[in-house]
Amino acid sequence: MRTVIGLEVHAQLLTQTKLFCSCSADYFGAPPNTHTCPVCLGMPGALPVLNERAVEYALKAALALHCEIPRRSLFARKNYFYPDLPKGYQISQYDEPLAVRGYLDLPTGKRVRIRRVHLEEDAGKLLHTEDGVTLVDLNRAGVPLIEIVSEPDLSSPKEARLYMEELRRVLRYLGICSGDMEEGSLRCDANISLAPAEPAKTSRPDEVWLGTKIEIKNMNSFRAIEEALKFEEHRQREVLARGGTLIQETRLWNEKTEQTEPMRGKEESEDYRYFPDPDLVPLEIDDAWRERVKKSLPELPAQKRVRWAHEYKLPEYDIAVLTEERPIAEYFESVVKLYNNPKDVSNWMMSEVLKLLKETQTTEIPLKPEHCARVLQMVSSGQINRTVAKEVLEESFKTGKAPDEIVQEKGLSQISDESALAEIVMKVLAENPKAVADFKSGKEAVISFLQGQVMKVTGGKADPKRTRDMLLRKLREL
Ligand code: ADP
Ligand code: MG
Ligand code: ZN
Repeated sequence: MRTVIGLEVHAQLLTQTKLFCSCSADYFGAPPNTHTCPVCLGMPGALPVLNERAVEYALKAALALHCEIPRRSLFARKNYFYPDLPKGYQISQYDEPLAVRGYLDLPTGKRVRIRRVHLEEDAGKLLHTEDGVTLVDLNRAGVPLIEIVSEPDLSSPKEARLYMEELRRVLRYLGICSGDMEEGSLRCDANISLAPAEPAKTSRPDEVWLGTKIEIKNMNSFRAIEEALKFEEHRQREVLARGGTLIQETRLWNEKTEQTEPMRGKEESEDYRYFPDPDLVPLEIDDAWRERVKKSLPELPAQKRVRWAHEYKLPEYDIAVLTEERPIAEYFESVVKLYNNPKDVSNWMMSEVLKLLKETQTTEIPLKPEHCARVLQMVSSGQINRTVAKEVLEESFKTGKAPDEIVQEKGLSQISDESALAEIVMKVLAENPKAVADFKSGKEAVISFLQGQVMKVTGGKADPKRTRDMLLRKLREL
């Protein structure tokens, strides 16, 4: 059996206002029902007005995913009754979506086809209290979403996770979604089935026979997606091995028990009684609009990875870490422009700069690229050693001061003056007669101890290599 997975992803767009009204879409943490108006409360007679920025963001995503953009798309009403949906229907897109037939390339080289990308509005939120009361908060009702539907091209839970991670990266590069899965800004419904190892052709030549599809909901982390799919893959395999049959259904991932549980049976699109929303005109996207958005796209993670491997010859691991977030990637490139040693810059960024960044819990690196480059230059020219460089980097990171200024103020320049160093070396030798005697009797390893003593006396400012050479010279002279 082979595993077949397709994902339906919802991404909240970072627009200022909602999809069809001027309420603020920045609802997270706001008091309940404060971001509402007659339109998103579903009052009779209130009319929707399409948010152009939301269309532009959706177009960005669709074009970044290499989709075709039909000239015309249509908004439809998806009817269902639930207290978080005040109108009794959700405005979505159905048979004429914004974008179709795209793809997303994973870092592994796998290409996953995208079936469609469409725009829709989010529903409100329900809060079930301990005393059995359910409260309704409509701040989220009407917040713009895009739904990105993949073809069933993913062949393992791990691959599904990689797809989600790459999709998140793309959306964040575009600046159109925060990608926060815990807050629910990025959500995923996963469809999984098991099919015969040899895909059997159906009557339609482009179609292969697939197994019974199970949809899983309620995963709010990458880990949960992978674990839920692993569990379900296993469960389905066991049912089939026992000679049982699977029924098409929707199941919920239970984070606590780490199992999927039945939620509801198969639902058909007929149940939603879709029809074109008579309050909204068809959305027309001409070539000029599409091209304008296409031109505005930044270099995307996949393109960056390929170019960096070529241009900077960095290991795959370094590339993965440094291209994860766009500001980090751009920072790396600004530093390399000033100090042309990509591997050196990569090492310092991964070991020091990113560590400092993590401590500050912001995404913007306060250390100026020119300051970072300057520290690296000072190390390579021997003006400061690596230990001191770390200190200077941290200080510059935290205070914004120029590295040269810090080195001068603190007297951190390496002791490169031969006579000054010789004086210290002689003093250390005089204070450590036992080590000197050991050396003389053949225990040359004590040299490291003596070197350490010199570093200690100088507060780390002595050049380690020079110190070692001078120690050897003086010891042999003794
Ligand atoms: P609809 O929701 O309109 O019924 P589908 O069920 O065909 O459309 O597709 C919904 C999602 O399920 C898509 O992401 C698709 O890739 C995936 N999918 C469809 N068939 C299967 C299958 N047999 N196994 C796993 N995923 C599937
Ligand atoms: Mg579906
Ligand atoms: Zn509103």
